[in-house]
Amino acid sequence: MTADTVAVAVDAHAAVELPPRAERARQAEAAADRLRAAGVEAVAVTWVDNAGITRVKAVPLDGLVHAAQWGLGAAPCFDVFLADDAITTSPIIGGPTGDLRLYPDLGRVVPLAAQPGWAWAPGDRHTQAGTPHPGCQRLFARRMEATAAARGLALKAGIEVEWVAALAGAPADEPQYPTHGPAYGMHRLTDLSDYLRDVLRALGEQGLEVLQIHPEYAPGQFEVSVAPEGPVAAADTAVLVRHTVRAVSARHGLRVSFAPVVEAGTVGNGAHLHLSLWREDRNLGRGGSGPHGLTAEAEGFLAGVLAALPELLVLGCSSPAGYLRLVPSHWAGAYQCWGLENREAALRLVTGSAGERSAAANAEVKCFDASANPYLAVGAVLAAGLAGLDQRLALPPEFNGDPAAAAPGTVPRLPARPAEAIAAYERSAVLREALGEPLYQAVLAVRRAEAVQYADTAPERMVAATRWRY
Ligand code: GLU
Ligand code: MG
Repeated sequence: MTADTVAVAVDAHAAVELPPRAERARQAEAAADRLRAAGVEAVAVTWVDNAGITRVKAVPLDGLVHAAQWGLGAAPCFDVFLADDAITTSPIIGGPTGDLRLYPDLGRVVPLAAQPGWAWAPGDRHTQAGTPHPGCQRLFARRMEATAAARGLALKAGIEVEWVAALAGAPADEPQYPTHGPAYGMHRLTDLSDYLRDVLRALGEQGLEVLQIHPEYAPGQFEVSVAPEGPVAAADTAVLVRHTVRAVSARHGLRVSFAPVVEAGTVGNGAHLHLSLWREDRNLGRGGSGPHGLTAEAEGFLAGVLAALPELLVLGCSSPAGYLRLVPSHWAGAYQCWGLENREAALRLVTGSAGERSAAANAEVKCFDASANPYLAVGAVLAAGLAGLDQRLALPPEFNGDPAAAAPGTVPRLPARPAEAIAAYERSAVLREALGEPLYQAVLAVRRAEAVQYADTAPERMVAATRWRY
């Protein structure tokens, strides 16, 4: 380690320490006053586990100040939960003993428009001694954001949310849809106009800037995208958007699935991650001498992400069912290549309309889905990107057209099953160092356990088992 990297590491660790208790209490008192005036009676504090499930502890509003000072109890074994609530173990984290403290991030607390009386805040997990819990996925993302910031770099990120809306009353194994309109059809929007308006209204009331909402390809499928933010904020927003969609849907007699695949053999739900790298006010994806105007820093960053995609799938595509989605000709980005506006490339370069390019240029990681923990996804992409930037990697030649139609072997396929991604992850020194041993091992244990669970499972059964978990 050079003196510089030591300084960056120290800054990054300082960035995830708890502020002093008195300051937290003052902030919570102010937040509680605001929330009370907005009719809030209780606050849900969430974290997302390594299997991609959002877990929660909630407090009545009167308990918020205490929670901000002392945290809420949360067992460390949550780090080794699987998506079906089975529990595995890992070399450092696991077992029935011990306790952690979950602290609401009051900078992000917001009343929930579709759950009257409730507010939501994302949580960070610390030890009982008040030190950062090394297994906390949100603190990992915050550490990576701080690592970039210490170099004067900022990532802007946005996670697209795709979901399938089905009738709540239908049998779990036979989803029925509230509209039978065609893909991207106005027919679907017309059938569900009250519902979609309520989704937009709820997101807006919660302070989110919606860019677009539209019917998607698969039966009952929709998508909403929101404005880019810092990586941790974007991951928080992904959690908030999903649970808002879920809550609005429940009020309309609908049940939603963000699972990678809702019906075997059809197009699934992605959670594409849009990203742009900035230095101060400059989007490094524009005005450079690299391909399509990329600067050398942006090119190195994207090349690092592209090269690491096989191992990044462990963080960006958690469920074994994700590999049923990640297949050619499904716009899921099943090939390890990049291309301008290429929807079959795992890394799609987006330049935007001519006039708005300086702000809009970004890259889209298409191969991720919503079974991922979004904090792990953004943190790991930052780690891989910064490693690529440090090594001054160059992008391989661009691929235009459909990689599935290219001569076999021309374009590498991304892992087709969990074991291949896990093997790549086990070889990744970059991810291992960035995540830190406890978190790295806990993720590995969860992925291995889920891979074993579904090793001999037919696609239809795997889809049925995961359809309503995400
Ligand atoms: N639903 C597709 C997926 O599984 C993506 C469709 C699109 O390009 O938006 O990722
Ligand atoms: Mg889409």
